[in-house]
Amino acid sequence: TGSDVHAEVLVLGGGPGGYSAAFRAADLGKQVALVERWDTLGGVCLNVGCIPSKALLHAAKVVAETREMAEHGLSFGDPSIDLAQLRGWKDGIVGRLTGGLAALAKQRNVRVIRGAGTFTSQHQVEVTADDGSASTVSFDQAIIAAGSEPVTLPFVPEDDPRVIDSTGALDLADIPGRLLVLGGGIIGLEMATVYHELGASITVVELMDQLIPGADKDIVRPLTRWVTKRYENVFLGTKVASVEPTPDGLKVSFEGGKAPDTDTFDRVLVAVGRTPNGRLIGAQNAGVQVDERGFVPVDHQQRTNVAHIFAIGDIVGQPMLAHKAVHEGHVAAEVAAGQNSAFDARCIPSVAYTDPEVAWVGVTEQQATADGTAYGKGVFPWAASGRSLSLGRDEGMTKLLFDQDTARVIGCGIVGPNAGELITEAALAIEMGADAADLALTIHPHPTLSESVGMAAEAFEGTITDLY
Ligand code: FAD
Repeated sequence: TGSDVHAEVLVLGGGPGGYSAAFRAADLGKQVALVERWDTLGGVCLNVGCIPSKALLHAAKVVAETREMAEHGLSFGDPSIDLAQLRGWKDGIVGRLTGGLAALAKQRNVRVIRGAGTFTSQHQVEVTADDGSASTVSFDQAIIAAGSEPVTLPFVPEDDPRVIDSTGALDLADIPGRLLVLGGGIIGLEMATVYHELGASITVVELMDQLIPGADKDIVRPLTRWVTKRYENVFLGTKVASVEPTPDGLKVSFEGGKAPDTDTFDRVLVAVGRTPNGRLIGAQNAGVQVDERGFVPVDHQQRTNVAHIFAIGDIVGQPMLAHKAVHEGHVAAEVAAGQNSAFDARCIPSVAYTDPEVAWVGVTEQQATADGTAYGKGVFPWAASGRSLSLGRDEGMTKLLFDQDTARVIGCGIVGPNAGELITEAALAIEMGADAADLALTIHPHPTLSESVGMAAEAFEGTITDLY
């Protein structure tokens, strides 16, 4: 064929989906090539997503807790921030993890090919390296894991360095005086949390009438209250009509809500969602269907319309989350290796690692109401949790949703510090078909925030007696 390299399984994209698929396929005995255009493996998640954001959020949390404790008799004074050192620490964590992936790929004989890959036929990908040189990789089966990129807005200038996306925000070049966060979803609010604690004055603007529109209102409310008290402004139901560069800053026009007509900011962070990379991989040359938004449709075995080509991760649809990509990657690799696997998760947890954290899994009340599902709920307010009060916090809440007839857990929403760690118990309950009694009779260690899950189950059963 004139191909430079042949692989039994070619994986296009080295993010959480791609490397998980490549490693699983290699473990199952396949000869694997992994094509990645960036210098390091790990994709968005490790390089410019989950991991660097969590490092900076940890720094933010330390500042926040120090400030909160000042009200309770323990003061450290204002933090002194060495941005270069903080940035170096974050980059070091990313480097350690991406370096680890390179070693894992090597151990498994996964051949990593650097360059941007484009399908040229149903069995070939052309890879163009940074220096412009091209090579061809032929394959028996392929797994598309090319991920997504930030959505840009036509009315926001792209070439002004004062306009940043999440990658720019994670670079931590400086701390702006006034930062407008355009988009009140998970990514925008996490970055707002970081920059607020590092000293920026934050305004958040969101088109919908609530922050994190995918989660139930009652679960998001404590976060909304918390940030409304601390940030300069939180504008809900508000549209940004234009962003204009001026010598004094970025002049932003708002429409609707309680925002002024215009205001000027030092930086604008655009965080209005991510768009799949489906149109950038020459899918048409392989006959792989891509929908009008750039997603690649797949079946429950992650197969595209072309039977020997699979797709996984952000490029196949919502939710765009790393843990979903990993599970889909395993399924695609196993099916490619001849196993009869399928993606049949009952639920996929979502977490905003904000302050407070917001986490939810399974059915939300919004969804249950829209679908006409008969459900009951149990709610435990953390104001009655000794452990929460010992953290200096009382705004949290744990809510469990149950099937009305069987009392099986069908959904859960948690808000409060560590909500992201706590949601896993509910995910396991949903996967295992646990009911309210299972959770209520499971002895949770005292005093922990995890008790709130058992308490919410007791509240549903009407047996709740003593708190604290
Ligand atoms: P990606 O991670 O996007 O990887 C795709 C890879 O393919 C990239 O390395 C890219 O360079 C490569 N590629 C693309 N096209 C080509 C091509 N033609 N040739 C060669 N290589 C190509 N998710 C969570 O679950 N938890 C979080 O806390 C979280 N935090 C986030 C924070 C931020 C700021 C952002 C932006 C995202 C966050 N996410 C989080 C989402 C998460 O990063 C993604 O869901 C995840 O990375 C998707 O994995 P993936 O493998 O599908 O694609």
